[in-house]
Amino acid sequence: MSHIFPRHCHKHPPVVSHGEGPFLYDTTGKAYFDGSGGAAVSCLGHSDAEVIAAIKGQVDQVAFAHTSFFTSAPAEALADKLIENAPEGLERVYLVSGGSEAMESALKLARQYMLEKGEPNRRHIIARRQSYHGNTLGALATGGNAWRREPFAPLLMETHHIAPCFAYRGQEPGESLEAYGLRVANELEAKLEELGAENVLAFVAEPVVGATAGAVPPAPGYFKRIREICDRYGILLILDEVMCGMGRTGTLFACEQDDVAPDICAIAKGLGAGYQAIGAMLCTGEIYDCIRDGSGFFQHGHTYLGHPTAAAAGLAVLNRLVDQGIAERVAPMGEKLRTALGDAFEDHPHLGDIRGRGLFIGIELVEDRDTKTPFDPSLKIQDGIKARCFEAGLICYPMGGTIDGKRGNHILLAPPFIMEETHIGLMVDALNTAIAPDALRG
Ligand code: PLP
Repeated sequence: MSHIFPRHCHKHPPVVSHGEGPFLYDTTGKAYFDGSGGAAVSCLGHSDAEVIAAIKGQVDQVAFAHTSFFTSAPAEALADKLIENAPEGLERVYLVSGGSEAMESALKLARQYMLEKGEPNRRHIIARRQSYHGNTLGALATGGNAWRREPFAPLLMETHHIAPCFAYRGQEPGESLEAYGLRVANELEAKLEELGAENVLAFVAEPVVGATAGAVPPAPGYFKRIREICDRYGILLILDEVMCGMGRTGTLFACEQDDVAPDICAIAKGLGAGYQAIGAMLCTGEIYDCIRDGSGFFQHGHTYLGHPTAAAAGLAVLNRLVDQGIAERVAPMGEKLRTALGDAFEDHPHLGDIRGRGLFIGIELVEDRDTKTPFDPSLKIQDGIKARCFEAGLICYPMGGTIDGKRGNHILLAPPFIMEETHIGLMVDALNTAIAPDALRG
């Protein structure tokens, strides 16, 4: 009997044995192509020699030193490298152990900044429906996914949500993509007026929505308008790039493609590429200077902040992504994968939409293509898709609740950037079996 408290009490996953490139192997020797990088984590696959060597080298030197006593060479170098490549204005890096911690840090920093700036009434957080920002209480309260929030609602702080920018579901007939983006961005201004802009702290969004809606990119101009509104009313723009950042969409930071820079940015997942647990919160020089010249310290902290071994891994990952150009593979490989998926499923009776950016791709499945009617949620088609793909040797990330936390289905693909064109066929074949119309209806 296992003493592990698993994710699901009635499922018995195989035991992983080892990894090789984009493949994971279980102890029976079966190979699985990691088509979702777990949950958009393993951007360098599972056997990157340089990252592994960097971790071993750091452990040999010193594995851990608490940040209340020391800084470390890998943490300093990683912060330098992140800032060198970050959107304009971001100047400081707060290293944590994952995405939820990065988001908690972002929310608390926003509040402390406003306090120290002399705007203590600013307390409201506005985010978007169908977003996910992590599972700790502050991050969960910020997220707008009804299913994830529901059981814990009595414990969640008050937050406010506007519509996502989700063209497949929200764009009106005859409305241009740009006009749609502008319309939903303007919901932020309406919400500010409702709450009193002087009481609002920040607006939080994923540049490309990940787990909850399936790689949904913003409409052109959407984030420019959001940035304009934030500036006009003096509220902070917090971008959650935990899933979509670190090259996943084809640029190191996803927001580069929308030509906006946040005041605070959260990253994780691809930063450690799965080799170590690491995340980071980046903020502008203006925010940092306000704290430095005020109380002089951010009233926050975790034991494993700036962990030297995790930082050494993150630095090695960035060297691979940026200096060695691996992130440059993402856009062309993503294009090829999307084209292959489009060709394979163009006539599939249940294909609703294929979307995304780079190697961050969502496939939305519907009962009826013309009306976009989703499958009956009680069918839980996502469970069957995941099981059939796994059986066929493909790891992917199917989810239900794409539309509103209950209705809708998508499959998220986020394969390692080191994948080769030859792996595309394997992915398409496994998906073809898993989403065959008869199989979907059970
Ligand atoms: N933010 C986003 C956009 C995410 O996708 C996730 C995880 O999926 C998180 C935050 C939370 O990250 P973690 O699971 O590392 O705590």
